Amino acid sequence: MKPSQIKKFQEQQNKFSKGIATRIDRITALWVAIQSAADTHFTELEDLILEAHKLAGTATTLGFVDLGERGRDIEILTRPFLEKQTLPKGDANLESIIQSLSYVSTIEPKRPEDMTYGEVTLLHEQGRTKQLVYVVAEYAEDIKDMVKQLQFIDYEVVSFDSSDTLKLALDKEAPSVLIVDLREFDLLNEVTNVWRKASGIPLVVLSSSESWDSRLNAAQAGAFAFFQKPIEYDDILEVLDNLWESSNAQYRVLIVDDERMLAEHYSIILQGAGMKTLILEDTEHLLDEIGEFSPDLVLMDLYMPNCSGVEAASVIRQHKSHTNLPIVYLSGETDLKTQMQALQVGADDFLTKPINDLHLTQAVSIRAKRFRQLSALMDRDSLTGLLNHSNLKVALDRELSRARRHHSQVSFVMIDIDHFKSVNDKYGHPVGDKVIKGVARLLNYRFRKTDTCARYGGEEFALILPDTPADIALRLIDEFRLTFSKTPFSNGPETFYSTLSAGLATFPEFQSIETIIEAADSALYLAKEKGRNRVVTHVELDTGKDDEKNA
Ligand code: GH3
Ligand code: MG
Ligand code: MG
Repeated sequence: MKPSQIKKFQEQQNKFSKGIATRIDRITALWVAIQSAADTHFTELEDLILEAHKLAGTATTLGFVDLGERGRDIEILTRPFLEKQTLPKGDANLESIIQSLSYVSTIEPKRPEDMTYGEVTLLHEQGRTKQLVYVVAEYAEDIKDMVKQLQFIDYEVVSFDSSDTLKLALDKEAPSVLIVDLREFDLLNEVTNVWRKASGIPLVVLSSSESWDSRLNAAQAGAFAFFQKPIEYDDILEVLDNLWESSNAQYRVLIVDDERMLAEHYSIILQGAGMKTLILEDTEHLLDEIGEFSPDLVLMDLYMPNCSGVEAASVIRQHKSHTNLPIVYLSGETDLKTQMQALQVGADDFLTKPINDLHLTQAVSIRAKRFRQLSALMDRDSLTGLLNHSNLKVALDRELSRARRHHSQVSFVMIDIDHFKSVNDKYGHPVGDKVIKGVARLLNYRFRKTDTCARYGGEEFALILPDTPADIALRLIDEFRLTFSKTPFSNGPETFYSTLSAGLATFPEFQSIETIIEAADSALYLAKEKGRNRVVTHVELDTGKDDEKNA
């Protein structure tokens, strides 16, 4: 656990400690009531089972292991009575367990340091907008091109020529990735002396030899990826993209549990792994909250007072838009039959309380990731991961209505790679695809989260910039154009460059989806006519038209 988590955990333990006496009083009172209840009256028994169940889950999770076990025992011993519809009157076993609760509650809980927690390392500090990359090489000239390429894509790159200087930097700030460029393998040994696999910083090895031994060496050192030199920039960028995506994913998890403390505990653990969480203590507004929070996964308690987890799950599944949303039950239920029944409603998994924190984080992130990928596949272009044509129109429609309401400006840009046919002809289609991906990547890095990037068709792209007037958009797109023209692409050992042209049109000058697209398209056409590798706005378009009229 990280220090901040330990502190929160201790706070939770203290809070729980203060409430133990009340919990035991409640259980004792229910037990007493059951002794004199009418034989057809099961309300107190049901409540007792629920109380014991909550005690079992929460106490164990928070380190009050003995108390948790007693809770579990009570639950296991009372449940059969409810099934047989009889009352456990005078049951000596239960009586003695309930009597022992007060004593057991005085046993010291486990300290957070002693609990079995997964080490969760965030790859980079939040708030950092550029990904930090450390590169180690004995010879600066070996990595010159790569560093340049990474910097173009907006990575912050720091290079080192020895493990000593690397160590100093690692002590100060952890990068998103550490790249080691090797001529001799000795350097790798030195690096692994100052970098530890457990640090969570992925290690990428670039080596001039591609023998089995060198791969094995790298793997043993704990390398995440291995490339033989000369490297294809694209491959290494792909690795970095993937790392960036998973460390930046911020999966959203909705936790539905009537036991607040337990829900908070899960929340702390998941947040520690970089996820966003929302807690619901009852199911009353469940559907609204799903709509608003748009979770990537729902963690659902099985037993809640007003509505069971299974019932809640089936309500979620009735909604067409939530048919793929992963639902994972959390429960102390160890009975396989009950688990199977619960899963039949269409939930995805069953985690048994108390659940190991690393296991929780992994179970959640794996499913959330798959959900994201599936959803992304449905409205995104497969080569670039950008929004596809039809979803671009939906997004444009939304932004135009928003701008109308807020009286703001929207810039719309059409982009087309220059002489792309000759790139394909010269280097082949797969290399052409790399250039297309290169544009997409740069779009993703250069523009804000609120901007929409789409692949409009083949080698055409579109960009929606909300709250951006034409002059600012023009400057941004022109910088983007310039950066792209300087971005090297590789075809084996050969390096080449490519350019693009763009046309820009703005709301409110153009009011409808059709007219704004048409205007941007005409501007793009003009940019091509004027010699390519440039940006043209609809303002020039008008003068262009005037020129024609004047001519
Ligand atoms: P201009 O500067 O006028 O835009 O010339 P251009 O060669 O880029 O334009 P043109 O529209 O004539 O050619 C576009 C080419 O893009 C034709 C097509 O084969 C290629 N293309 C379209 N989609 C893809 C793709 O997904 N991958 C690859 N590699 N090529 C594609
Ligand atoms: Mg083109
Ligand atoms: Mg074209």
